[in-house]
Amino acid sequence: MRSKIAALCLLASFMGIGTAGAEECPAGALGVSRTLVVDPTEHVRLGSWQYPESLPLKDREVVLTFDDGPLPAYTNRILDLLAAECVKATFFMVGRMVQAYPAVVRRIYSEGHTVANHSMTHPFTFHKMSVDQASHEIEGAFAALRTALGDPKAVAPFFRFPGLLRQTSVEQYLAAHNYMAWSIDLAADDWTHINNQEVARRAISRLEARGKGILLLHDIQPATALAMPEILRELKARGFKIVHVVPASAERPKTVTEPALWAVRRTPSPEEKIWPRALVLGESPEPVLAAPSPASFGVESFGSAIKVAMVQTGERKVMSDGGSPLPPMTVWPRPAIYPVPADANVLPIPAAHNFRYSRPFRLGPPEKQKTAAVASKPATAAKPRRAAQPAAGWFFGQQTAASHKAYGHQLSVTRSPTNLSAPQAR
Ligand SMILES: [Zn+2]
Repeated sequence: MRSKIAALCLLASFMGIGTAGAEECPAGALGVSRTLVVDPTEHVRLGSWQYPESLPLKDREVVLTFDDGPLPAYTNRILDLLAAECVKATFFMVGRMVQAYPAVVRRIYSEGHTVANHSMTHPFTFHKMSVDQASHEIEGAFAALRTALGDPKAVAPFFRFPGLLRQTSVEQYLAAHNYMAWSIDLAADDWTHINNQEVARRAISRLEARGKGILLLHDIQPATALAMPEILRELKARGFKIVHVVPASAERPKTVTEPALWAVRRTPSPEEKIWPRALVLGESPEPVLAAPSPASFGVESFGSAIKVAMVQTGERKVMSDGGSPLPPMTVWPRPAIYPVPADANVLPIPAAHNFRYSRPFRLGPPEKQKTAAVASKPATAAKPRRAAQPAAGWFFGQQTAASHKAYGHQLSVTRSPTNLSAPQAR
């Protein structure tokens, strides 16, 4: 399979098939639509979940990110699937995993993916640890990645907090060292107990809802590895484009972008009710309303004389010596006075039966249960006992206590409950 793809890639490259950035891909592959070169010194924190900036993606552009790996069984499977579609992603790896499986790290790098840092031991305490502790976690993982790859330049200065547990002091440390803090725009909840179909469904439906973004996945999760074929298939079928993000360097200048494209405009969730978006048709300029004039506030001027419209007893009077008064205007209705009905028409004070209760509430638990509660207490209990709690069914008194369960405020039962122990009538 791999050799077949390689042959196709070779053929495609000879024939000049493919778009920019995806020259080696077989026809029909999802591919990478563009490579975005970012400068970590310019944008220190990104991801709309937590920060006011995210990647300057266009509509239907997706950045795939995989956290927590590498774990050979699942990471290799994901790498196979990405290679088959010529898709490039960013792998935020855990230092301990990097030390355990350096060969997989080398494969990730050699296949053109971005190698990034997800801390040394993945502690869920980054939001409260000291900057010194955090720096050991961060630098330890960078060192592990550099050792695995043997080239410091091979590691992107991208860091993602384990569990996204950010802290300002640690973010300041990252910024001071020109490391870019990566949050996310979308998650597929693949760290929870959901199956691969649900992972794919959440990934795609949330991308559809948001339109674009940085998607968080986990390459150590079997459900994610199983979900990837469907995710890639759906991305392709729905016209999503993959963007590969790499850091700027001396030989690779940053992609020139408009600063406004980095600003996050919060997209409300589908559950939130929002006003419909205004449709922008063509490039015509926005309509401009005229600036308000004194006339907008009912002031009319006639040379030296000024007319002001006033409201008084339901009629507009004109102040000043102006012409005829304006026509009467609508006023709030006057309060009506309703006569009090005669005694004969007054309804009686409602009684309990008006609310369809079978009988008024009792003021305490039935005797039978009270005695049972006392009997069940050990005889040695010497400490003062609290009043026995009302048992289920006491609302209905002793008659119904045995046959009903009370769920709060119950209405009367009009039909007698079926006696399941009685012989069935034939
Ligand atoms: Zn993680």
